[in-house]
Amino acid sequence: MTGFIEEKARNTPVHGEYEVVVLGGGPAGIAAACAAARTGRSTILLERYGFLGGAGTAAGLSNFCGLHANVRGEHRQVVRGIASEILERLRALGGLNEPHLIFGNRIQAQAYDISAYKIAADELLSAAGAKILFHALGVGAVMDSEQRIDALVFESKSGRRALRGRIFVDASGDGDLAAWAGARYEIGDGNGNMLYPSTMFRINGVNAEVAGRAWETVAGLMEEAERKGRRFPRKGIIVRPQKNPIEWRANVTQVRNPDGTAVSGVDAEQMSYGEIEGRRQCKEVFEFLRDSAPGFERSYIVEIAPQLGIRETRRVLGEYVLAEEDILGCADFDDTIGVQGWPVEQHAEGRVDWRWQRTGARGYNQLPYRMIVPKGIENLFVAGRCASMTHDGQSSARVSGPCFVMGEAAGIAADLALRAACAPKEVDVRALQARLRSAGVNVTGE
Ligand SMILES: Cc1cc2nc3c(=O)[nH]c(=O)nc-3n(C[C@H](O)[C@H](O)[C@H](O)COP(=O)(O)OP(=O)(O)OC[C@H]3O[C@@H](n4cnc5c(N)ncnc54)[C@H](O)[C@@H]3O)c2cc1C
Repeated sequence: MTGFIEEKARNTPVHGEYEVVVLGGGPAGIAAACAAARTGRSTILLERYGFLGGAGTAAGLSNFCGLHANVRGEHRQVVRGIASEILERLRALGGLNEPHLIFGNRIQAQAYDISAYKIAADELLSAAGAKILFHALGVGAVMDSEQRIDALVFESKSGRRALRGRIFVDASGDGDLAAWAGARYEIGDGNGNMLYPSTMFRINGVNAEVAGRAWETVAGLMEEAERKGRRFPRKGIIVRPQKNPIEWRANVTQVRNPDGTAVSGVDAEQMSYGEIEGRRQCKEVFEFLRDSAPGFERSYIVEIAPQLGIRETRRVLGEYVLAEEDILGCADFDDTIGVQGWPVEQHAEGRVDWRWQRTGARGYNQLPYRMIVPKGIENLFVAGRCASMTHDGQSSARVSGPCFVMGEAAGIAADLALRAACAPKEVDVRALQARLRSAGVNVTGE
């Protein structure tokens, strides 16, 4: 920064007044807006891009994690509710793979087509009656009091506007709204380092027959090249086929600042550097694959994701902070809102560390309602990767499955809070659990 300028006070037009205002259209925001609209509440979802899906589309993931668990050797889908509806819609569009196993037979994930996900999410929210406002960047909060948000301010091609709400759901991934409202949050591991981000890309023109199970052999090829002096952005790479096996997704990059720290998703200068560095890495690793991996000789990059994939920024402090021990010990909570089965997947410098649920444990943990209830703000929920978790807990519960769970609970809890005219932390959790069950959510995992 090189100083400050003073802006003139101005009147900001009120774009609309809604009972529930959701910021962000990733899995948490999709589920929150869908669930809130279905309760009959006037609901709007604000998204900076022109499509839904969050990192799942904008950062090119094309793969759901955390929906499934390894329950003592039996693989099953444990996240249901709105997540199941998304899967059904994707299947109907021909855009869903069968679940695949990773790490031998340790856990399942499920790949999807990115364009189909955008359409499935549009249709889901339209059918639920939620209004979507695309190309609108949230930029600030106007407060009624220190503890209450009156409006969310956004910038758009129509100008600067405000959205009044009674309940707000921060599903921005970055905890933007919570931070503007003055909620407390943490960033990183206590030493300032966040999970490292990655730029994803997809490859087309792969000869699937020749490539075979290349996901098992590419890491070996890279190690061999490293022994000869070549350097890659990270170990623990993922290359897997999409539904049509001529197309593969590549999760192989790791984007660091020149000083080695993780590029921050809430720093414009670092993000600008990171986008360029991420694409440079995509090119570098792709050229290695094309030149070294059998079946990739005639392949090409069909898409580099529109944005650098950010795994972690702000984590908002809530009534409970989900920790690694809750994941590894498969914790139960009286105020459970659903379950998730992903292990701890920590993107550390140059590598990915995995820590698994303890042997003999049932393979999934419950998620407590209190983790989506931020301290200090009376009409706000935080759902998704910015919910209340430690750095290590977030390394697991940030993936899509648990984000759907948190969002759906926030949407229904918003209705309960409005009915009872109470703050989120006073919502009747038994009533919430009953409503989640009747919506098809797997509340306890049994
Ligand atoms: C490279 C990478 C690979 C990953 N791989 C997987 C995987 O294979 N499977 C998996 O399940 N998970 C994966 N993840 C984790 C993934 O980030 C989460 O699963 C999930 O997308 C987080 O959901 P969310 O709804 O909390 O936030 P996000 O998905 O980040 O969505 C937030 C949304 O809010 C919008 N937004 C943010 N700020 C504003 C604002 N101020 N105004 C308006 N809109 C705003 C964003 O545009 C975005 O659409 C990966 C993450 C990364 C980065």
